[in-house]
Amino acid sequence: MSELFSMASPEEQKLLIRTPRILQNTWDTFRSMGRRLPTDRVDLTFIGGGLSTAETLRLLCERLVDAQKATSRKQRIETRVVESYCDPSGAMSGSLAFGTKAQPGFLLSATVQNCGCPEFHDWLLLNADEVFQELSDSNDILVHSWITENKSLISSKHFEDMHIPRKIFGRFAGTRMLDALYGAEKSGVLRKRTVLGEAVNITQDGTGYKIKLASGDFFYSQLVVVAIGNSWPRVPPHLVNEPRYFLSYANGSLERLSREGPDLLTQLPEEQRRILLIGSRGSALEWIHYLRHQPRLLKLACEISIVSPREGLPELPKDYCQSAETLKEMGLLTFSLGRISSIHKPRKTTQALVVEFKENPAAQPVFERAAIVVNCSGRGPIEYTSSRLLNNLAKQPNIFPTTPGRDGFIVGTNCEVAHTPNAFVIGPLLTPENFREGVDSISTVNRVANELSGVLLARLGGIGDPH
Ligand SMILES: Cc1cc2nc3c(=O)[nH]c(=O)nc-3n(C[C@H](O)[C@H](O)[C@H](O)COP(=O)(O)OP(=O)(O)OC[C@H]3O[C@@H](n4cnc5c(N)ncnc54)[C@H](O)[C@@H]3O)c2cc1C
Repeated sequence: MSELFSMASPEEQKLLIRTPRILQNTWDTFRSMGRRLPTDRVDLTFIGGGLSTAETLRLLCERLVDAQKATSRKQRIETRVVESYCDPSGAMSGSLAFGTKAQPGFLLSATVQNCGCPEFHDWLLLNADEVFQELSDSNDILVHSWITENKSLISSKHFEDMHIPRKIFGRFAGTRMLDALYGAEKSGVLRKRTVLGEAVNITQDGTGYKIKLASGDFFYSQLVVVAIGNSWPRVPPHLVNEPRYFLSYANGSLERLSREGPDLLTQLPEEQRRILLIGSRGSALEWIHYLRHQPRLLKLACEISIVSPREGLPELPKDYCQSAETLKEMGLLTFSLGRISSIHKPRKTTQALVVEFKENPAAQPVFERAAIVVNCSGRGPIEYTSSRLLNNLAKQPNIFPTTPGRDGFIVGTNCEVAHTPNAFVIGPLLTPENFREGVDSISTVNRVANELSGVLLARLGGIGDPH
């Protein structure tokens, strides 16, 4: 700590003093990223530092400590986590759902007691004062509206039936992983280093793997776990740099809409000031909730229209549903059944986009003018995602064979890629098409992390430098 402290700038030192002891560990690894990445071979690498990695690593650390007690094994497992976004305020900062960049007022889709992690409730009770104090210090409009709606439950600490902001769950899962990591590092059974960067390819190298980063750096790992979560769809080439087209969870989309949306709307005649959402699942509902709290945009928009092949919106959380109801009552929210076939870009930037959709493939196309289009349709097949890593892995069908629907890689029951020993996949890339169930909820992530940590422990039995 003292060496680290002396390396830090005055601003960083302030942060270190405020950061709980357990988080300093993350800061330490974060600092080390400034140095050149050694091209050595480590035992285990996780690509992506979100919930799947946090849970698998936590359970692996606990199992390694137990194994050491039972067998007095003398091995230290060298682990790296490659993460494209990371900041010292949290262990899971990059996670789309639970990380630092997630909108602070977005909520868990299930109540605390049904969220898929029973331990979360007890942690919340223990940490409630600090957590809710921080929330009330926030100047986010959605957070304030949530606090107002849930005031009496918060003060009586009846959290069971509440839909809590997702970031709080992220903080819980990150802290719990760091606790386990601290124990494992102290016992000498594992050392973890975080590498800040985007992994762009994984190739076979002898019995292990070479991991290549966008910076050109690379290193080797005996085992590799691909845990990159949900990557959003690729922007169609003709819409790149199109100011009226937004991707639902792409970095900064919500902020850009509040900043630039009013201008985009006022450039058009009133009847064309439509905000069109593609898709009707959780992310569309979150945008509706967000828009409901943007009075400037609501005043200018003539309509918020949803186009989706499936009818209706998800029915939870209740705060979101209330927002949808309010917009319906204001006569602003409409719904059209259909699948988008194309988005036409007008010549002038002061003209509306034209969205073409069909109710079914044989139907006549319907055209709708929209001042702003938000794509909330989710990630789709691997080659339509923005992930360079996924695109490159799909180009190696002998090593990373994709499913016929191309929504993931073919894996065995232990998450290991078919015929590719020691390469594993976890998270939303596991779908019922390639695995026994879709792994895109807290409960499924935890269940699979529990199994995978056991598999990794067995594989790591023979790996690691004695110390
Ligand atoms: C917006 C959203 C809301 C959700 N809400 C809920 C909910 O309320 N309840 C529930 O049960 N489930 C929810 N889920 C589903 C599920 O819990 C999450 O998908 C879960 O986060 C999956 O964990 P993960 O680690 O696989 O992915 P993530 O947590 O998304 O982590 C992936 C990490 O990989 C990093 N990464 C990606 N590509 C690279 C690369 N090439 N190189 C390096 N790093 C990379 C990302 O920066 C990120 O940190 C939600 C999912 C999303 C997307």
